[in-house]
Amino acid sequence: MGCLKGNSENKAKPGRFLCAKCGAVSKKKKHLCKAEKIKPPKDGSSASH
Ligand SMILES: [Zn+2]
Repeated sequence: MGCLKGNSENKAKPGRFLCAKCGAVSKKKKHLCKAEKIKPPKDGSSASH
């Protein structure tokens, strides 16, 4: 297991994971050394639903 070391394999989007150490983004938490979930933006009206 290693980290992507700054080479994001996915675009940063809510629900994906951002490495707090190197800043890489992945859908897979395990691909990162210090994964932190990207939160959806707080404000802005959530449309459909
Ligand atoms: Zn990392």
